[in-house]
Amino acid sequence: MIDLEYIEGLILKKLDYKESSKIVQIYTTSGLRSVLIHGNRNMKSPYLNLTRVMNQVGLHVSGKELLTLRDGDVMSDFHLIKDDLEKFTYAQHILEIIYFFASHDHDHEKFLNFIIKILKIVESEEDYIPYFNMIELKLLNLLGVNPLFQHCVECDRTDNLKFSIKEGGMCCPDHRQSEEKDVSPSVVELMKELYYYDLQNPHKLVFEIDTLRELRTTIDRYYEYHLSFRSNSRKMLTGLIGY
Ligand SMILES: [Zn+2]
Repeated sequence: MIDLEYIEGLILKKLDYKESSKIVQIYTTSGLRSVLIHGNRNMKSPYLNLTRVMNQVGLHVSGKELLTLRDGDVMSDFHLIKDDLEKFTYAQHILEIIYFFASHDHDHEKFLNFIIKILKIVESEEDYIPYFNMIELKLLNLLGVNPLFQHCVECDRTDNLKFSIKEGGMCCPDHRQSEEKDVSPSVVELMKELYYYDLQNPHKLVFEIDTLRELRTTIDRYYEYHLSFRSNSRKMLTGLIGY
C-alpha cells in the first residue's frame, strides 16, 4: 500500500522536469508544495487539464521529499479569467506575487481562502481590478509591512496627514520628508477601503479610473520600496490596461 496524502490548493507554476515530466508548484493551506507529474509533457497525459496554472485542485499525492501525483480533481479552473486576456494577465501578476512571498511564514490557509474568493469575484466582475489590488494590499499586512492609516507613523497626530510610501503610511507635516511625491487623497481613501474591505460584508466599490490608475503605481512603488519586488507580468499588463 502506498501512503497517500490529499492536498488542496492553487497551481501557481508548472516547470519541465527531466525528459517527459513536469513539476507543478501549488499554493496550499500550508504554503508552497511541489508535485511531480510523470509523463505530463505527453499530449495524451490524463492530467493535462488537471495541472494547468491557475487551477484550484485537490490532489492525491505520495512520497515524502518530492510528492508524486496519483490522482486529482479540478475544483475550479477559473476559465472566465483565462478566456479574458486582460484579466488573465492581471491574474498572472497576482500569481507571481503569491509565489514570490509563498515561503514567508504567514497564515497561508487564511490567505489562500481569500485568494480563491477574490478569483471567483473577478470571474464575473467587470470592474475587477480593485479586487486584485485587495490581495496586494492585504498581503502587505501578512508580510508585516502594512501601511498605517489611522495616525502619523511617528506620532499620534491625526490631522493634516499625507500618505508617504517611504514611511509606510500617513505622516503629519513634522514627520514627512518634503521631497516625496504626493499620493492623491482619493487614492489614499481607496487604498484604505480595499485594505480594510471585509468580504463577509461586501459593499459596492465606487471609484474613478484615474484613482485606480494612480493606485496601481502607488502599490508598485510600495512593493518596490519595501519588498524590492516587481513582477515580470507588470510590463505586459501596462500594454493591456494602458498604465
Ligand atoms: Zn507625526
